[in-house]
Amino acid sequence: MINLLDFDPVALAAFFAERGEKPFRARQALRWIHRRLADRVEAMTDLAGATRDALARDAEIRVPAVVRDTVASDGTRKWLLDVGGANAIEAVYIPEDDRGTLCISSQAGCALDCAFCSTGKQGFNRNLSVGEIIGQLWLANRTLLADGVSASWVEHGRHPITNVVMMGMGEPLANFDNVVAAMRLMLDDNAYGLSRRRVTLSTSGLVPAIDRLRDECPVALAVSLHAPNDALRDTLVPINRKYPLRELLAACLRYIERAPRDFVTFEYVMLDGVNDAPKQARQLAALVRDVPCKFNLIPFNPFPDAEFSTSPRVRILAFQKVLQEAGFVATVRKTRGDDIDAACGQLAGRVQDKTRRHVVRIRPARPASIPH
Ligand code: SAH
Ligand code: SF4
Repeated sequence: MINLLDFDPVALAAFFAERGEKPFRARQALRWIHRRLADRVEAMTDLAGATRDALARDAEIRVPAVVRDTVASDGTRKWLLDVGGANAIEAVYIPEDDRGTLCISSQAGCALDCAFCSTGKQGFNRNLSVGEIIGQLWLANRTLLADGVSASWVEHGRHPITNVVMMGMGEPLANFDNVVAAMRLMLDDNAYGLSRRRVTLSTSGLVPAIDRLRDECPVALAVSLHAPNDALRDTLVPINRKYPLRELLAACLRYIERAPRDFVTFEYVMLDGVNDAPKQARQLAALVRDVPCKFNLIPFNPFPDAEFSTSPRVRILAFQKVLQEAGFVATVRKTRGDDIDAACGQLAGRVQDKTRRHVVRIRPARPASIPH
């Protein structure tokens, strides 16, 4: 069965056209699926009967199954979703007074192996499909509505989720096409209708893909910096060896020319005794002097077997002060969902690693000609 969640707006129009349907039928379907969050073709009552019957025969609306649904004491909620092949991914809902944010995963695992990240430690299995990515938003909205979530904007007919951050499991720019297709749905007025400023993509710094994103689907950009120089960043964020800081910052400048916001957000995880000295803050300020940016300092979130610990609060505040005195906006990220391991970098899901398990020692083959 075709999964209708796998189509972005253009692809859905093409799918309907191929079936000899008029373009407005595709628009109607888009609204049913993503605005009204229909879970079955049969529910699309204003589609012509013949269209609907034909569609129901070979298409469906399919989302990953919820394996676990956990709510933290601060209202943060985490869904563990089965994506097949014994893999599971996580999506996190973060309620605030003026918004509802959903943190979405883009891959089962991540191949980039940053030293301080729980997802990275799990290895990599595969890219998520468009339906699996947008399905997280569909599911969160539907579940929260069914649970009677209270928010003023929901009373006015809007979806509970007002902001999306591509900061869950995976490197979104390493799954470029599917992530962009899903973001096109997030932005489409007949689907989720979010503004580009309310969709944030976080990347560890895949330079060519940052340029592509700028050209194809500019949204708010967050870049995981984490170090003030290449020597340290090489060890924390290994992709830096391929795309060093100078190239990364140049890509940020190019991005800002077209971005919906006139700055990038630099994320900086605070690792005790590793990257949190005042001297490093000064080096950081000098490094990004020419890039319009804001800093988001993220206290390191521990996970089992982590090699790092969280910087003491005073050290984070001192680091923040250096940046502020150098003229930057620098905030310290509030850690949410502590008691359910739902914070940045703690998402682990379940990943059947395809990268490291396959490192097998090669034994020399016994020459066939030697008689036993
Ligand atoms: N792959 C993307 C997006 C997912 S991670 C990226 O790396 O940007 C989202 C953010 O959480 C990134 O800034 C990442 O560096 C950070 N992060 C990863 N592990 C963390 C941890 N244990 N504690 C705090 N932040 C972490
Ligand atoms: Fe992948 Fe981001 Fe984790 Fe690095 S921090 S391993 S890029 S998910």
